[in-house]
Amino acid sequence: MLCNALGCVGFSWAASPACTELETVVLDWLGKMLQLPEHLLAGTAGAGGGVIQGTASEAILVALLSARTKVIQREREADPESSDHDVMKKLVAYSSDQAHSCVDKAAMIAAVKLRKLPTDSDFALRGTTLSAAMEEDKANGLIPFFSCATLGTTPSCAFDKLLEIGPVCCEENMWLHIDAAYAGSAFICPEYRPLLDGVEFADSFNLNPHKWLRVNFDCSTMWVRNRADVVDAFNVDPLYLRHDNQGLVTDYRHWQIPLGRRFRSLKLWFVLRMFGVKGLQQYIRKHVSLAKEFESLVLSDDRFEVSAKVVMGLVCFRLKGPNNLSERLLQKINETRKIFMVPAKLRDTYVIRFAICAATTESSDIVHAWNIIREQADEILTGVKNGI
Ligand code: PLP
Repeated sequence: MLCNALGCVGFSWAASPACTELETVVLDWLGKMLQLPEHLLAGTAGAGGGVIQGTASEAILVALLSARTKVIQREREADPESSDHDVMKKLVAYSSDQAHSCVDKAAMIAAVKLRKLPTDSDFALRGTTLSAAMEEDKANGLIPFFSCATLGTTPSCAFDKLLEIGPVCCEENMWLHIDAAYAGSAFICPEYRPLLDGVEFADSFNLNPHKWLRVNFDCSTMWVRNRADVVDAFNVDPLYLRHDNQGLVTDYRHWQIPLGRRFRSLKLWFVLRMFGVKGLQQYIRKHVSLAKEFESLVLSDDRFEVSAKVVMGLVCFRLKGPNNLSERLLQKINETRKIFMVPAKLRDTYVIRFAICAATTESSDIVHAWNIIREQADEILTGVKNGI
C-alpha cells in the first residue's frame, strides 16, 4: 500500500534516488544474512551487487541474456570475421532435467539451445554429467556458455551439486547462474547454509523472498558478480533518461527488462525490520518442522511412501503401487475443495507435492490435511479391493 501511495515510478536513479539506494542497501543486508561472498555485494565500491526483479523467470532471463552478450563479444573478438548470428547458432546452455520450466522459456526467448541433463538418484545434477555434456558439445563445434544450477528444484526440492558444477563452469569460462527461487530463503539459517556452498563460483544468483520470506509478491532478489556484464547487455541511453549523476550511481534500468520500477525494496525493508533475522529463521524452521511432521504421518501409514528426501517445506508422497492410484487420489483430494496440491513426475513416478508455504500454517492444519488425504485414500483403496 505504501509503495503504491508514494507513487514512485523509479525510471532512473534521478527519478527516485531513494528507490535505488534503499534497494542496494537492503540487498546487501539480505546478502549478508545469506553469507554471500563479498564480490556479490555492492558494498561501497563493489563490482557486483543486488537488484530486485519481479520473478525468478525474469532473473534467469536477465542472467542468460547477459551471458549471451558476453560470449558473443568474446567470440567476435577472437574471430572478427564472425557475426552475432554465427556465434548464436553455436551457443548451448545447460540445466538439469529437474530445472524449472522458466529456464526453457529463457532459452526460447534468447534463441539458444538448452540441454537438460540427467540427475543422480537424489535428482541432483553432478559436475561429471555437466562436463561430459560440454565436452561432447565442444567436439561438435558448439559453444557452452551458460549453466543454471538449481538449489531446491520444483518437483522434489533437490539440490544440484554446486561444489562440483562451479569449478567446471569456471574452468570453461562459462556463466553460472544459481536458481534458488524457493529454497534460497532457508539459507539465512546456519544449518541450511552449507547447501549454498559453491555460490562463490556463481556469476549470478536469485531467490524469491515472495515465496518463503514473508514478502508479498513480487520480489525476486538477484545478485551478480559483475554488474558491468549485465549493464552491457541492457544499456540503452536515450536523451530523456539522462541525468547529472549518470555513471556515478546505480541505474537499475540497465539491470532489468522493463524501464520503470516499483519501490519493492520498501517491502523487504519492512519485513527485515519487523521480523529480524531471528524471526525469519524461526519462520523457516517452523515450516520445515511442519513438513517433517507431515512426513512422519505419511510414513506411519504403510499404504503410502515418501518419494524424495524431505529437506525443506516440501513432501513428495504417493500411494504405493501404480501411478494411476496416486493420480486418482490427487484428483479426489482436490475435488473436496478443502486442500489443493499439484503433482510432479520424478522420472516415471507420479508423486503428490505437499508444500507448506502459508504464513499461518499450524500443526492442526497438517493433521487436518492428512485426515482428508487418508479419507480419500480409504475410499480409493476400498474401491480397488472391491474391484471398482
Ligand atoms: N525456479 C524454481 C526452482 C521455482 O520453483 C519456480 C517457481 O515455482 C521458479 C523458478 C519460477 O518462479 P517465478 O514465478 O518467480 O518466475
